[in-house]
This record gives sequence, structure tokens and C-alpha cells, in this order.
Amino acid sequence: MVQAKKALAKKTKTRKARAVSSARSNDYQNFIGGRWVSSRLGEILIRDKEKYTADMTREMGKVLKEAGGDVQEAIDCTYYTAGEGRRLHGFTTPAEMPNKFAMCVRQPVGLCGLITPWNFPMAIPSWKLIPALVCGNTVVIKPAEATPLSTYNLVRACEEAGIPPGVVNLVTGYGETVGAGITNHPALRLVSFTGSTDTGRVVASACAERNAICSLEMGGKNAIIVMDDADIDNAVEGAVWGAFGTSGQRCTASSRLVVHKKVYKQFAKKLVERTRALRVGNGADPKTEVGPVINEDAVHKIMSYIDIGEHEDAATLACGGQRLTKGDYAHGYFIEPTVFTDVAPHTRIAQEEIFGPVTSVIPANSLDEAIEITNGVRYGLSAAIYTQDVNRAFHAMEETYTGIFYVNSSTIGAEVHLPFGGTKGTGNGHREAGTQVLDMLSDLMIPISIDSI
Ligand code: ADP
Repeated sequence: MVQAKKALAKKTKTRKARAVSSARSNDYQNFIGGRWVSSRLGEILIRDKEKYTADMTREMGKVLKEAGGDVQEAIDCTYYTAGEGRRLHGFTTPAEMPNKFAMCVRQPVGLCGLITPWNFPMAIPSWKLIPALVCGNTVVIKPAEATPLSTYNLVRACEEAGIPPGVVNLVTGYGETVGAGITNHPALRLVSFTGSTDTGRVVASACAERNAICSLEMGGKNAIIVMDDADIDNAVEGAVWGAFGTSGQRCTASSRLVVHKKVYKQFAKKLVERTRALRVGNGADPKTEVGPVINEDAVHKIMSYIDIGEHEDAATLACGGQRLTKGDYAHGYFIEPTVFTDVAPHTRIAQEEIFGPVTSVIPANSLDEAIEITNGVRYGLSAAIYTQDVNRAFHAMEETYTGIFYVNSSTIGAEVHLPFGGTKGTGNGHREAGTQVLDMLSDLMIPISIDSI
């Protein structure tokens, strides 16, 4: 066993080293045309969308509709970012001295390491990979160990699109070996990571040690505030999809529902009815609404939180709470969509990221109390409010410390032209998508010339 581990470590080292030297040997200047290759990549992704979608559902269980959305996001990211390749703006400015010309231009940062999670196995890699290429960088990308296929599909499409060999390098494997090899590698100028907050901290320390640029997208404990003037049916619909879409395995999942006491009972009753009616099953069956969770470890973690909710936190288990094991369910990792009510804001299920189909309904007496509860966690990714009052909506938006805020819509979702990221334990200040990601993936250089004639 020890020998096998040593052999694996050695093999992993070789693969990593090969990927890094392959990326290094490809001078980015040779790849400057890559800024336009990307739209060809979009055509390939559209052509094979159905196959990638089926592969993704097979690989990680997401229902077909969501898997299709994941691939679509890679398509949108490709077209949008390919367009940005024509607008990698710098700026010109007057200089202090006569005969001096000043301008600021973008340059690639160089070799980038991209480490991605399993919950959006094509969308998240595309968010990192495509802008990195458009900025003229070379990359080594490591998908999560659970979902190499979807990233492999993306990388193969890059190859078919004509991106030169050695520019995009895929390495697969475990985080502690291959992932750590990337974060510690002296040749990698930048590491872009999406995953859990605990791992993100390890990645950040490794990058700080060698002064590498580090971008982190991590956990969330997102709240929907439901006010007493809200359209309750709309709020319930948003809560259901926010909490149980992708089986709750999203960093933007609506894992807390902070509800005004005046509508609390009505909201909780409708939410439980709607949750009980959800069809749980095989993601490949078009009728399925909630698929399985990713693996056995996830089942244990989620079930242990359900136990904590019932016993340690003394919340009311309003529906769900069981692992499904009968019939076809025996072949997968299925958990009933679960709603806890009467949850106190400081308890563990209301504070910690469960990353599964579990949500907590928390009562609040006022908007300001609801905002305080929303802000009272270590994360700051997304929040939402359901209200008909524009003043309340703006007040909540101003007072909530998150990277994303919605009005009369759930906490989930992202658009490729909008900056995505969070505050506090969710991120380290960088944003993905939009034009903002280009600031992270390029260096600004100021060439100044003085004409002495
Ligand atoms: P999750 O708990 O959702 O799997 P992780 O943060 O553990 O999230 O994983 C996200 C990504 O980070 C995966 O690709 C994983 O392999 C990688 N990873 C895990 N541990 C490390 C580490 N120590 N260094 C670098 N990458 C890691």
C-alpha cells in the first residue's frame, strides 16, 4: 500500500511537471491569436452540447436541465469573453513632462493554475480558462477528482478549436497531491481556486508563501429575506429552487430563509407542501426535479447536519430528513429535500455550509433584524429579499454585506457579463466573470517614452 502510494505520488509529480513545462514552453506571444480562437470554441461547444450535458449528468448526478445550463454557461462565457479579447483596454494619459508619452497596456500574467470544484464542472472551469486564454496566458487546470470528464470535454474542445498544444494543460487527481502541487509550483504566477473555504485558506497560504497572485471563490450561507408584503407564492418558488436546485450543492444555495413573523406560518406551510411534492430521482430522467448528491462522503456530512439540526440545534424538522434507499434509490446518494423551521440564527445549521438539500426557516420581527441575521454569518456571497416595497429593497441591498443581491428572485444564478464573487469568508476580493476577471488575469504595464529630440 505504502509502495503503491509512493508510486502514485511519483507518477503524479511527473504528470504535473510535464503539464507545467508544456505550459511554460509555449510562449504566450505565440498564442496572441488565441483571443480570436475562442468563438470557434463556442461553435464546438454548441455542436456537442447534448453530449456534454449527458456526460455531466452521468458524472455528477445533476438533472439534465441543470447540466444543460452548466454547458450553456460555458458557451455564453466563451462568446462573451471572446468579444472582450477585442477590448482588452488599457488607457492613455497626459504625462508630467513635455515630450513624454504615457500609456498603460495589459500584459498576460503568464502561467496560471486553475483549481475547480465538482458542482459546476464545465461552467466554473470555463469561467477561469476562457478569460485566462483571452488575456494571453497559458494554463494548467485541475478539475475536482469527482468530475474530470466535463473538464476534459472542455479541454478537448479547446484543442479542436485550434488552441496550440501546450497552452491548455489538464491534470487530474486529488487535491492534497495534484492540487497542492499546483499551488506550490514556483512556475505558476497565479492560482485561481473555487472550492471550500477551508481548502481556500490552504491555497491562499501556499500562494502567499511564494508571492503568487491568488483568487479565491469559496463558501456561502445565503439568506432570502421574506417580508410581510411579499408575494408569498413567488417567494416559496424562489426558496424551493434556491435551496434544492443542484440538490443544494451550490455556493449560492438559499440555505437560510429569514421570514417576517407576520407571514412566517403561511410561508412555512406552503414551503413544506411544495418541498414534499418535489420529485427526487435519477438526474437523467427528464421528470426528476432533484437529483442525488455527489458521493457517500456528502451523504454522511449532510445526514450529520440533519442530526445536528434535530438534536443539538433543537430546530423543528418540518419535512424530509431521510436518506432514500428503497428501490432504485439504493443505487445512488439520494436525500429527501429537507426543511427545518423555528431555527435560531446562531445555531450550527444556520451558520455552517451544509452543501446539500437542507434549508432553515428563521423567524424575524423586522427588516432590520432580518438584515442583521443575513449578515450574521462568516460568509458573504449572495442574499435576496422578497418585498413589494422599493424602499425596503434598497435599504436591504445597502445594508447587506454580500457580493450579490437579488430582489424578488432567489440567491442563485450568475451571468457571464456580471462580476461574480463574495465578501468575508467567501472570497479575497477578486471577482470572476464580467470584465473584472480580466483585471486579475492580466498585469497592467506602463510604458513611458521620452522623446529627447
Ligand atoms: P469540496 O469540499 O467541495 O470538494 P474542496 O475545496 O475540497 O471542495 O475542493 C475544491 C478543489 O480543490 C478540488 O479540485 C480539490 O481537488 C482541490 N483541493 C483540495 N485540497 C487541496 C489542496 N490542499 N490544495 C490544492 N487544491 C486542493
